Amino acid sequence: MASESCAFDIIGARYLRDVQPGELVTLGEHGLESRIVDGGQRRAFCVFEYIYFARPDSRMNDRVLQVARSRMGEILWREAPVEADLVIAVPDSGNPAARGLARAAGLPQDDGFVKNRYVARTFIQPGQELRKHGLRLKFNPLPEVIAGKRLVVVDDSIVRGNTTRQIVQMLRDAGAAEIHMRISAPPVKHPCHYGIDMSTREEMIAHGRTTEQVAAELGCDSLHYLSLEGVYEAVGATRATHCDACFTGEYPLAGSDAAAGKYSLEDGADARGQAPSLIGA
Ligand code: SF4
Repeated sequence: MASESCAFDIIGARYLRDVQPGELVTLGEHGLESRIVDGGQRRAFCVFEYIYFARPDSRMNDRVLQVARSRMGEILWREAPVEADLVIAVPDSGNPAARGLARAAGLPQDDGFVKNRYVARTFIQPGQELRKHGLRLKFNPLPEVIAGKRLVVVDDSIVRGNTTRQIVQMLRDAGAAEIHMRISAPPVKHPCHYGIDMSTREEMIAHGRTTEQVAAELGCDSLHYLSLEGVYEAVGATRATHCDACFTGEYPLAGSDAAAGKYSLEDGADARGQAPSLIGA
């Protein structure tokens, strides 16, 4: 049993079926047993799995996420085209959507950054200063590719905005003529109550700001997010069976509402300090 289907590919195992919400599957002396231990609430699969969390070679809702993310890029271009010379991704998170967007736009795509493979991911480093330093170590922009170009820069999400702000500055320093950020997810405005420790509402750059205000904060020439409808179109799913609360504030589980903090469903929440974030951007 695994949380993602890519684990089966690695060991040559075969995917049989999903464990259903409320289902308890056990492997014991009587073999595989299943029983439903909870029911009644509607299905609410995390839509952020398709966008960011899951590995791109995993299969969810009958499609490989690499392909679904590429489709998000195509739809993003349809929703927000712009005059530009070159498409680049924020590696690696923006890679599939950048490919789809470039294909839909008929624009060339290149590597604007070389990613340093030898440093840890920025989200596991505590504190803003370390994170800032970590990003400089992580991405090296290529002036030979970027200079004088009107860039479409694709990433999969923005949470706090610190990473994106620094990326925009690095691209400016490397001589980019224009920077048009395209994000293959809607603005993240609300905390997750279901186990993803992404930030408090106050830390989220899109919370309480218009897209134009966020663009000004980031220092880019334009900014567009993929619509929620675009996400669902890309993955071939509907809101009725998914959770998208971090985008909409509409929490599927009764008792957790938009005004509550990210620890609202945890016992002793008030006693907890700030946990390190899982989404660093
Ligand atoms: S709030 Fe966002 S991250 Fe949390 S389960 Fe819902 S969609 Fe996923």
